[in-house]
Amino acid sequence: MSYLGIDIGGTEVKGILCDASGTVHAGTRRPTNIQSGKEGIISVTREVILTLSEGGARVEAIGIGTAGRINAKTGDVVYATDNLPGWMGINIPAELKMSAPVFVDNDANAALLGEHWLGAAKGRDSAVMLTLGTGVGGANLVNGAIVQGATWNGGEWGHVILVPGGHLCNCGNRGCMEQYLSGAALTRMARETVSPAISHGRDIWPLYASSDPDAVKAVDTYLQRLSIVIYNIHTGINPACIVIGGGVIESKDAFWEALQQKISAFGVSVPVVPALLGNRAGCFGAARMAINGRAAAPFL
Ligand SMILES: [Zn+2]
Repeated sequence: MSYLGIDIGGTEVKGILCDASGTVHAGTRRPTNIQSGKEGIISVTREVILTLSEGGARVEAIGIGTAGRINAKTGDVVYATDNLPGWMGINIPAELKMSAPVFVDNDANAALLGEHWLGAAKGRDSAVMLTLGTGVGGANLVNGAIVQGATWNGGEWGHVILVPGGHLCNCGNRGCMEQYLSGAALTRMARETVSPAISHGRDIWPLYASSDPDAVKAVDTYLQRLSIVIYNIHTGINPACIVIGGGVIESKDAFWEALQQKISAFGVSVPVVPALLGNRAGCFGAARMAINGRAAAPFL
C-alpha cells in the first residue's frame, strides 16, 4: 500500500511516497510557482504528485499539508495570506482532480502529526508543537488527534498576543508571539541589540557563546519570552510533551540548556523536546493523514 504526503509552502512544494510503516520509497521537491497564482501552485503540486507516482505504485490516498487555515473536512482553504496568492477560498481536492482520495490540513498540524507518528512526540497521547521558522507555526494534539478548532483556527500559537501594543503583525494585530519568537524576529532583535550589520539571526549564537553582553541580553529576552509561552501552553493544555521545531532549532546546541533552565524556573514539568523530522515532518504528517483517511468522507 502506497501513500503520498505533500507539503505546500510559500517557497517549495515537497512530497514523499511511503508505505503504512512510514518507509519512504520516493521523494521530490519543486519551487512553488506563486507568480502564476493558484493555477501555478496547483500545477506544481500535480507535477510533484505525478513524479512520485511514476514508479507505478498504486497510490491509496494523498495527504496534503498546506499553509493557511484549512477546513479539514472539506479541503477548503478558509484563509490564506499572499504567500500563496489566490489560495484563499479554493477547494484543494476539487482543483487537483486526482483519482485517489485527497485529505488536507494546515501545514503546522501536518508537522505535529508527523512528529507524533515517527518523531519527537511518538508514543505520547497529547502534544503541542511550536515551529520557530520564518513565522511561528503551532498545533495541538489531544487524545491522539489534531484539534483543528471550531473555525479551523486551533493551534495558531504564533498569533497569541505576547506583548500588548507591540510590533505590528501581518495578521493585523500587534504584539503576536510570531513578532518576537520567529527566526525573523531573532534576526531583528540581533540587529537592534547587537549590531545592524548582522545578516541572519543565527549569527548571534557565536557571540552568545563568547558571552558578548549585548548578545546575552538579546538571547536572554528571546528565551524568557519563549519560556513564558511554554509555561502558558503547559498551564492551558498540559500536554504530555511540547515539541519545538523550525529553523531556529538547528542552533539548539547554543541555547537548549539555557532554555531548559528557564522552563524549570517556571515549574514546567512536562518534557520540552526538539523536533526530530526537520523539514520533512509536514510530508510525513500529510502521509499519515492519507493513511488515517480521517476526514468525514473522501473527496475524489
Ligand atoms: Zn499575528
